[in-house]
Amino acid sequence: MTQTPADHANIDPAEIEKFDALATRWWDPNSEFKTLHDINPLRLGWIERHCGGLTGKTALDVGCGGGILSEALARAGAQVTGIDLAASSLRTARLHLLESGQQVDYQQITVEELAEQRPASFDLVSCMEMLEHVPDPGSVVQACAQLARPGGQVFLSTINRNPKAYAFVILGAEYLLRMLPTGTHDYDKFITPAEMGRWIRQAGLEMQGMTGLVYNPLTRQYRLEPDDISVNYLVRCRRPT
Ligand code: SAH
Repeated sequence: MTQTPADHANIDPAEIEKFDALATRWWDPNSEFKTLHDINPLRLGWIERHCGGLTGKTALDVGCGGGILSEALARAGAQVTGIDLAASSLRTARLHLLESGQQVDYQQITVEELAEQRPASFDLVSCMEMLEHVPDPGSVVQACAQLARPGGQVFLSTINRNPKAYAFVILGAEYLLRMLPTGTHDYDKFITPAEMGRWIRQAGLEMQGMTGLVYNPLTRQYRLEPDDISVNYLVRCRRPT
């Protein structure tokens, strides 16, 4: 049988379809994407702090979806490229620029392909809440590393894999509180910090720090918590010069 490039690509088509089906809802702050809106100022502030400001920096947002983080990076002064494979989500992202007046270059391309086309091009690369949706997350981390310029930074976020994360994300957020659509996440694809650390090292990146992102169901608020990476966590690394 003839194989197309897509046969080799690091893509789970069911995942792309899942996000495409929700594409009209990205910018509704009370939609399935509410959590991403709620955590956006926290993760943006964290990235901004560790970059010493974003003005004039070139940024790549991998798995950008409808552009919640991409636009925030642009608003903070970065020159942003956003990539995803879900065509409808990218359409929503482009349409939203008309409303926000921001500029983001959205492209439908895999991160591995972009890494071949534009290696060492970006001051910072972000890849948030995406690694747990791909067949080979290590390959994404590797491509992010290649896309960062020497001395550039890579910011990753994902969900830890342990009974507490299962309870909070799958049982709590998806089933009990209905914060996320049931079936959004697959427990087996959650990523432990040890696995993440291995991919980071294999990609030749230097791990610079980690912080947890903790949800308090009583106040319904999130906060960055460096000492608690048991559920959601963010990692920052640097490509050596
Ligand atoms: N990073 C965004 C969206 C997270 S949702 C944010 O945090 O706000 C996960 C996104 O990953 C979806 O938009 C989905 O289409 C995208 N995605 C899943 N698999 C992908 C792949 N192989 N390549 C690029 N994007 C992918």
